[in-house]
Amino acid sequence: MITSKSLLKIIQNIAEAIKSNKEYLTDLDNPIGDSDHGINMSKGFTAVLNKLEDLKDKDCGTILKTVAMTLISTVGGASGPLYGTAFLKSSMVVSGKMDIDKQDAVKIFYEAIEGIKIRGKAQKGDKTMLDALIPAHEALEKAVENGEDTIMAFERAAIAAQEGVEFTKTIIARKGRASYLGERSIGHQDPGATSSYIIIREIANTLKS
Ligand code: ADP
Ligand code: MG
Ligand code: MG
Repeated sequence: MITSKSLLKIIQNIAEAIKSNKEYLTDLDNPIGDSDHGINMSKGFTAVLNKLEDLKDKDCGTILKTVAMTLISTVGGASGPLYGTAFLKSSMVVSGKMDIDKQDAVKIFYEAIEGIKIRGKAQKGDKTMLDALIPAHEALEKAVENGEDTIMAFERAAIAAQEGVEFTKTIIARKGRASYLGERSIGHQDPGATSSYIIIREIANTLKS
């Protein structure tokens, strides 16, 4: 079970991790994009950090919705509306709820992925953030079905996301700026998949702490 208080801690840790990986994410966007993924994400999550104080005692739906709106209004580039949609769809799963149970967590990831797919028209294997998020969701769902606890389930999701990031190095980009490079995108790690991994890793680490 994740309380609204621990959700706020998770968001804070995600925001700090994105900020500290600003250069790394931007460097990944250099060879296959326009060198701004870290800048975009860091801008958005800095704005999110400034909202956290107002979110104390709010329900999980309101917290996730505020993150969504903040990212949509502050992040330029493809990743802003995509992550914004993901958080917005997530927020609807726990609208008015003060905590997130394991089934909610699986549903949150499912809805986030559906939102990204609809918005960006990408599929698994197109070398995008979905290549980290879809394996993470599958691992999370399987762990929950097997009766594992939330901490273990998110640890498995984080490992699956990391493997997904590695996989992006081997495939051709079919969506976003990297797709302009065609075959030359092979060998490069997708920045958006990497930021998705960082987010899931922070969820897992915060739950453990
Ligand atoms: P931009 O490409 O507009 O500069 P960013 O650099 O912030 O935006 O984000 C790039 C990342 O967005 C990519 O690495 C990829 O993971 C993700 N992305 C781009 N287009 C799509 C899409 N259509 N669907 C899903 N993810 C996408
Ligand atoms: Mg970019
Ligand atoms: Mg850009």
